[in-house]
Amino acid sequence: MKYYSLKNTKISLTFSEALKKGLSEDKGLFFPRTIPTLPKSFFQKIIKMSINDIALEIIKPYIGESIDKNTLSRIIESTLNFNFPLIKLSKNIYTLELFHGPTLAFKDVGARFMSRCLSHTLKNDERITVLVATSGDTGGAVANGFMDIEGIDVVVLYPKNKVSDLQERQFTTLGKNIKAISVDGTFDDCQRFVKDAFMDFQINNYLNLTSANSINIARWLPQMFYYFICYKSLSKLNKKLIFSVPSGNFGNLCSGILAKKMGLPIDHFIASTNINDVVPKYLDTGVYSPKASQETISNAMDVGDPSNFIRIEKIFNNNYKELIKNISGYKFSDVQTRNAISSLYHSFDYTTEPHGAIAYLGLNKFIENKNSDYLGVFLGTAHPIKFREVVENETKTIIKLPPQLKGILSKKKKALNVKNFQEFKSILLN
Ligand SMILES: *Cc1c(COP(=O)(O)O)cnc(C)c1O
Repeated sequence: MKYYSLKNTKISLTFSEALKKGLSEDKGLFFPRTIPTLPKSFFQKIIKMSINDIALEIIKPYIGESIDKNTLSRIIESTLNFNFPLIKLSKNIYTLELFHGPTLAFKDVGARFMSRCLSHTLKNDERITVLVATSGDTGGAVANGFMDIEGIDVVVLYPKNKVSDLQERQFTTLGKNIKAISVDGTFDDCQRFVKDAFMDFQINNYLNLTSANSINIARWLPQMFYYFICYKSLSKLNKKLIFSVPSGNFGNLCSGILAKKMGLPIDHFIASTNINDVVPKYLDTGVYSPKASQETISNAMDVGDPSNFIRIEKIFNNNYKELIKNISGYKFSDVQTRNAISSLYHSFDYTTEPHGAIAYLGLNKFIENKNSDYLGVFLGTAHPIKFREVVENETKTIIKLPPQLKGILSKKKKALNVKNFQEFKSILLN
C-alpha cells in the first residue's frame, strides 16, 4: 500500500515512511492510494474469529511490506490488551465503551498501535521526537503509549488551564522520555505550533520530528478495529446499524467511515458535537467555515478547525450528496450535555461523561422518529472519572477510582510554559 498527500497525488510513500513523517511536506494529510474491500467470506466468518485475527485481517493491506505479519500480529495483541464492553441500555440503544485502556480514553488504541509500529520502524541508532498537541486526552494516551520506548522522545503541548487535573496528570507526571509544555492559548494554538514546527527549517535540521495527533495514519487506521469488534457482537440481530461518534478532530468518525468503505455494514453515522459545530453546520448548509474554538465541558471536542474532516470528504470522493446521505450532524450545549448525563443515570442507571453524553444525544435525535429497525450505538470515549466534577454533580454519586489512576494522583506535575511559537522553538532547540 502506498500513501499520497491530499495536496499532491504524485507523492507516494510506504506505511513506515508516512508513519514517520506524520504530515506531508506540503502540509497535506496522507491518504491510502486505494481503499481495500473485504470479501463477503470475511463477514460470514467474523462471528467465529478472534478479535486479534479480525484486526490483523483489516489492517494488513494498509501496512503492506512495512511490517512482517508476525510482528504485526504481536503489535495488535499488545495494542488491544483491554476490553471493549458493549452495554445495552434499551431495545435499540447500546453504548460501546472504549475507555478501559491505560489512560481511560479511546485514544489508547491509536496511541498504542502507533508507538509500537514506530518503534519497530526505527533503525538502530535513530532518534525521533514525537510532537503532539492535546485538548485533553491525546496527551495522556500518547505519553503512556510511548513511555520508555527506546529512541523516542515525546513533547506534549496543551492549553494552559484548559484540561482537567486528571488529564494533566496523565502526561505531566511521567518524566523520563516524556516532556510537557503548557501554552498560553487554546488547543488551536497548540495545534498551530505543532504544524509550524514541522515547517521550520532550523527545528527540522536539529530534530527528527513526527506527529502523534490523529492525523498520523498509524493512529487513524487502527481505530477501525472497534467498529468491527462491535459489529461482531451485533450482526446476529440483523438490524440497521448506526454509530453516533462524539467528534472533535473527526479522526474517530473518519475511521468508522473507512470501515464502512471497506465493507462493514453500517447504515448511518452521526457526527455529534458540542457548540463547536463546523461540521453539523456544513452538513446542514453546504458551507464549511472553520472558526476559533469555544470552551465547553466536553473539552476534548473543543476544535474549531477539525483536521481529519478532509479525509472524510475524500472517502466520499468530495461528493457532498454522498456525504450527507451517510452522515447526520447535531450539536449540543453544555446544559443539554449535563441534562443528558443526569437522565442517562436516572433512566438507565448508566454513568457517562460529557463526550459520551453528547454522542447519546445525537443518537437519540436521529432515531427519534425512526422505526425499530434501527440499532444505535453511541461511543463512550472517556471514563467518567476523567470528568469527575461534572459527572458527580449530575448523578449525585461518587465515582469509584479505576486502578489505572492510583499511581499518578500522588506524583508531582511537571511542565514548562510558553507564550508564543518563538519560546516553544527555543525549548525544542535546546
Ligand atoms: C479526542 C476525543 C474525542 C474526539 O475524537 P476525534 O477523533 O478527535 O473526533 C471525543 N471524546 C474524547 C473523550 C476524546 O478524548
